[in-house]
Amino acid sequence: MIDSIIDEERAVRLVFNDEERARYSRHLIMPEVTIAGQRRLKAARILCIGAGGLGSPASLYLAAAGVGTLGLVDADRVELSNLQRQVLYGTADVGRGKLAAARDRLHAANPHVDLQLHEQRFVSSNAMEIISPYDVVIDGSDNFPTRYLSSDACVFARKPNIYGSVFRFDGQASVFAPHLDGPCYRCLFPQPPPAGTVPNCAEAGVLGVLPGMVGMVQAIEAIKLILGLGDSLLGRLLHFDALKMKFREFHLRRDPACPVCDENPTISELQDYEQFCAGPARARAPLAAMDVRELEHKRVAGENLTLLDVREPFEDEIARIDGRMLIPLGELSDRLHEIPRSAPVVVYCHTGVRSAHAAQLLQQAGIEQVYNLTGGIQAWSSEVDPAVPRY
Ligand SMILES: [Zn+2]
Repeated sequence: MIDSIIDEERAVRLVFNDEERARYSRHLIMPEVTIAGQRRLKAARILCIGAGGLGSPASLYLAAAGVGTLGLVDADRVELSNLQRQVLYGTADVGRGKLAAARDRLHAANPHVDLQLHEQRFVSSNAMEIISPYDVVIDGSDNFPTRYLSSDACVFARKPNIYGSVFRFDGQASVFAPHLDGPCYRCLFPQPPPAGTVPNCAEAGVLGVLPGMVGMVQAIEAIKLILGLGDSLLGRLLHFDALKMKFREFHLRRDPACPVCDENPTISELQDYEQFCAGPARARAPLAAMDVRELEHKRVAGENLTLLDVREPFEDEIARIDGRMLIPLGELSDRLHEIPRSAPVVVYCHTGVRSAHAAQLLQQAGIEQVYNLTGGIQAWSSEVDPAVPRY
């Protein structure tokens, strides 16, 4: 058990009206919470990075629980394909900014919560300023650059970082806080996986309920840190396998050579995380990118090029770009001979992750002009041809 991360001075003066006492009565009657704990919740300031699959359940439950200040960072708009898991949003919200929609839903759940909306991408240049007023950070991001950024920023600012990630049927959660004697994300993963080897949820899919489980674990860990209750996930990685319905945990240690949270760190300020996660593979063989507008121009101009789709056949059934050649990524190395060498090859997939991997394969096979289509068929649909369905 650890002490509450909330300074008692901030909590002690807070008062509740009758409506709030009724609202929080199931907390107030718990001897572990009482009015003193509810004051701490009201004094607490929690930041959710990302208002998506993890941020949705986390922010809904934290708002309902009476957390005083809830910050959300997200620059996206609600898409139809979000609704399968992002329970903050309804069908009528599609096309709206996520944070405006989140504000309506969270205020409907609890009007006493002070919502701070940071409608921007969380990047190195704004990270320290954004997290500065908060007591604890929930990392609900879905990509490696943001995870490293949010962990490093929390180490530098001495704030607990509550980590969660989901992939198909599996989820993970932990609490990173070197200033409380736990490890940081980098102690666990000193290097990001090679670019393109780990697909994101948009590429690999995720069971809709799964981020609900993990986001709620993150919310519970935040509340425990605020109330100073129980055993934190500090120093433990919780792994959840939905298919086997099994929770396992792994003990984590601080890496004495961690470049960020060691006493004499070799990294003491935020980096370019996109570049860090792009890794040495990109440095070895620079990958040319083409955006969807440029591809459209070339097609309209009748330029000779091969458009290679490396998605699976069932994805091609859902949506395709006319004139494409379909070779799923898993078959590509055996079918390289099918690709004409006479013209530039533009590779695409759903969002651009698998195709980056495929483009590297083609380069290694000696095909000279290879381009990765930035944003994949998803970008093609939103920027060039809305008749191509999104999924
Ligand atoms: Zn570390």
